[in-house]
Amino acid sequence: MNLPQSMHELGRLLRYARPYWLVLLAAVVLMALAGLCHAMIALLIRPIFDRVLDPVGSTAPVLLTTIPVFNHPLYLHQIIPFPLQDVWKLVAVGISMVFLLKGLSDYCGNYLVNYAGFSAVTDLRQKIFERVVAQDAFFFESNTTGRLMSSIMNDIDKIQLATSHMLADWMRQTFSALGLLWVVLQMDWKLALVSLTVLPFVFVPTVRIGRKLRRATRRAQDDTADLNQILQETLSGHQVVKSFGAEKLEAARFRKASHRLRSSNLKYVAQQALASPMIEFFGALTIVGLLTYARRQIAAGQLTTGEFTSFVIALLMLYEPVKRLTGIHNIFQQALGASQKVFEYLDRDQLVKDKPGAPAAPVFHSEVEIRNVSFRYPSSETFVLSDVSFPVRAGEMVALVGPSGAGKSTLANLIPRFYDATTGTIVIDGTDVRDVRIDSLRAQIGMVAQDTFLFNDTVANNIRYGRPDSTDEEVRTAATHALADEFIGRMPDGYATVIGERGTKLSGGQRQRIAIARALLKNAPILIMDEATSHLDTESEMLVQRALSNLIAGRTVIVIAHRLSTVRRADKIVVLEQGRVVEVGTHEELVRAGGVYQRLHELQYLEADAFVNSDVE
Ligand code: ATP
Repeated sequence: MNLPQSMHELGRLLRYARPYWLVLLAAVVLMALAGLCHAMIALLIRPIFDRVLDPVGSTAPVLLTTIPVFNHPLYLHQIIPFPLQDVWKLVAVGISMVFLLKGLSDYCGNYLVNYAGFSAVTDLRQKIFERVVAQDAFFFESNTTGRLMSSIMNDIDKIQLATSHMLADWMRQTFSALGLLWVVLQMDWKLALVSLTVLPFVFVPTVRIGRKLRRATRRAQDDTADLNQILQETLSGHQVVKSFGAEKLEAARFRKASHRLRSSNLKYVAQQALASPMIEFFGALTIVGLLTYARRQIAAGQLTTGEFTSFVIALLMLYEPVKRLTGIHNIFQQALGASQKVFEYLDRDQLVKDKPGAPAAPVFHSEVEIRNVSFRYPSSETFVLSDVSFPVRAGEMVALVGPSGAGKSTLANLIPRFYDATTGTIVIDGTDVRDVRIDSLRAQIGMVAQDTFLFNDTVANNIRYGRPDSTDEEVRTAATHALADEFIGRMPDGYATVIGERGTKLSGGQRQRIAIARALLKNAPILIMDEATSHLDTESEMLVQRALSNLIAGRTVIVIAHRLSTVRRADKIVVLEQGRVVEVGTHEELVRAGGVYQRLHELQYLEADAFVNSDVE
């Protein structure tokens, strides 16, 4: 990343702080005050040596410094709001007050900077989350869950650290450095300039280190994302891991990724830890040079011990903020490295999106037409659907059948625009689905997938997922029609029972009936269903079938059929093979025709139904 690009990214990050500019301004003022107090401490050293520790210290007013520009002397008694004659008492009260003021302004400034930083980063995280959830299916195919989670949490944590904690420290150290710089310059500007000639030796390598750190951060972020991915997969697929006895294999995979992360982190630390000793080394060289000079000056009576000690202490105090500032610079580099990925997500253009000013879809009433649809996944060269056309009239039930990989699910996914057809169109009541707002299109379509996804929430909230404003009564009615009310009633807290991650506390049939209740409550006119292929036990199977009948009644249904009973009931069967429509007709017509369907019927449906029937016996 070059300088203009990193400035651009810094600018983008700062834009998130804009709503909090007043808070930031107050923080800057308080931090400036804290920095000034820090510099004052160096000034108070001189009277300690020259007036307090020296037995011949006079009672004359203690001159702290001369304020440049105004050329106005500043005496210690002027900053203490009550009279004190004794120099020691004056210095003691001065030190206490300066520390008190420094502490107070530091505390308040620090809190305010953190307030602005945390708020800005919370806004950024929210924006990224909203952007990510709104992405199309292609996005989720090319970005794994682990990577996304790592970005939304870890990358943003890095930015958070830089923009809240580090920003506070950066302000504090900058103001301290400026204050102390002023102190050393006005004490002895020639000596100060000579002492500061070492600074370029500090800054140039720091900038170089910063660049390397940014790259190291990116690598560490990638490795963290990989580790997250393994963690996420192993935890959510824990049953598969156990059933294949793959615990050791997974542990080895985790160890390998963990070690990669360790080595990336160590590379980072090796770079980052260079800055501090480098600054200390150059600092020590300066002090040695100064001491040689001071010995001569003090011997010649041109410098008092107090003046010299005060100068050296101010200089040493100045090294501290410089050292801290380089550390902070490194953390900022880390944040810039992390923000690269975050901005990539923010900038990604969606492949499936609303046309500008697209109207809402009118309520469905007549026909869904698949018109000359061909489709190819962007990641592959081959078309999985070729010139598919057929109508689905309102109130009809159309079954999609065909061998595995024929393109049935892909076709079903085109209707709610999870993907857009590569060529051809899907038309609902005469309007291309791409010409209406996606949310209004999806509001008309209910979906029941093979694998029901349930959230770790109460049964009631899972059912009302598509219609959060529905009443308890409506939820109960939907559950009753989905034949779920009875088993929900037997659960420990009824509808308020939390059903575990992905609904693991429920049986397969119960999960399906909750999904059916959810679709019933959504009450969409078009229903897309992928019949479950897994065999439930007979009673559960029967209940699911009855619940589905309730769901189907009065709707327009497109079903990816796996059961003889379903295909028999369908008004029309569309047979797909290698992405093409090879046969269309009713069950009887297609069996009589003796083609692909007839073969499938013998192989697939008769076998599957025989299995179910053998269970009944
Ligand atoms: P099944 O009955 O086994 O579920 P299907 O008829 O529903 O199969 P699809 O899932 O639509 O078939 O898949 C059709 C083809 O598209 C397959 O060859 C599959 O490998 C490919 N495919 C599916 N999803 C993707 C994807 N996200 N990216 C690339 N290719 C895909």
